[in-house]
Amino acid sequence: MKEISKILLDWYSANKRELPWRETTDPYRIWISEIILQQTRIVQGYEYFLKFIERFPNVQELAKADEDEVLKYWQGLGYYSRARNLHIAAKSIANRETFPVTYEEVRSLKGVGDYTAAAICSIAYGLPYAVVDGNVYRVISRLFGIDTPIDSGKGKKLFAELAQSIMCKYSPGIYNQAIMDFGAIQCTPQKPLCHQCPLAEKCYAYHYSKQNTLPVKQHHTKIKKRYFNYIDVHAGIYTFINKREKDDIWKNLYELPLIETTEEIDEATFYSLPEFQALIKTNEKPLLRCVCKGIKHILSHRIIYANFYEVILPEDTSSFSSYQRIKRIDLDSYPVSRLVNLYFEKK
Ligand code: SF4
Repeated sequence: MKEISKILLDWYSANKRELPWRETTDPYRIWISEIILQQTRIVQGYEYFLKFIERFPNVQELAKADEDEVLKYWQGLGYYSRARNLHIAAKSIANRETFPVTYEEVRSLKGVGDYTAAAICSIAYGLPYAVVDGNVYRVISRLFGIDTPIDSGKGKKLFAELAQSIMCKYSPGIYNQAIMDFGAIQCTPQKPLCHQCPLAEKCYAYHYSKQNTLPVKQHHTKIKKRYFNYIDVHAGIYTFINKREKDDIWKNLYELPLIETTEEIDEATFYSLPEFQALIKTNEKPLLRCVCKGIKHILSHRIIYANFYEVILPEDTSSFSSYQRIKRIDLDSYPVSRLVNLYFEKK
């Protein structure tokens, strides 16, 4: 086991990527980087991290900020609950004298799971907690030939124990980063670089050609299709928006008035929808046109098919009265989903 960690540490010293969050032991910065990098590629997360840290350089600044602003800095990264939880956790930390220092305290922060707690504690404080993320599951399952599903209770326990047993106890922070980078660069999901791998001699998957079947997952994500029809109102210098407050995707982000349908519909059907008719006052005859049709927006568990309709009304319209009326020029200051932002950019 010791030898595996030594091989990984040697590989890391030759192959590690220079990244801004690697140059620090500040738990706040490590926390921010770890949350940003969940579900996000490093190239994309890099710029977000720099901008986020520039605006919110410490936990007090983040705690003081308005949630809308935090979400604005997160705009485009997706999985917005990460930003909402960061903000809630920052407020709880700001009431204390220091950033939490034990694994249990860090783990109890909103939005911090086993993985993030182990990453923060090992990298910032040198505490011996092994991280287990998608990269680690892949490396361990291939190396030891383990086909227990990684998304089963049994699998999670087994992989956590193995990860802990091969971890280098003297440099847990560096070791954790080494095994994650090894999974991301060397032992990749597709076409791992086995012919130039320092672990090849010890690797079960390499000897038995099982790279493509390991790791095993028991559940496959079911993709749901949703159909969104957005209404872009032009009422002189004004438009209308809405804050998504329900427990659904994009919670607390803003968007244009939306009518969701159970299937794709054409323009004529949209205009005759009772939900649309109910928004327009009977004495007003808006000019209507579909300006963007059939945009396909892919999320991890859903595919959104979106149409955007332009509706022109008088500046003092009383239609859309249940929505927030704002100046179009201010649209850019509200956090919106990448889908809505793409529409604004196209216009
Ligand atoms: S030999 Fe291939 S499958 Fe095995 S650890 Fe190395 S890169 Fe991964």
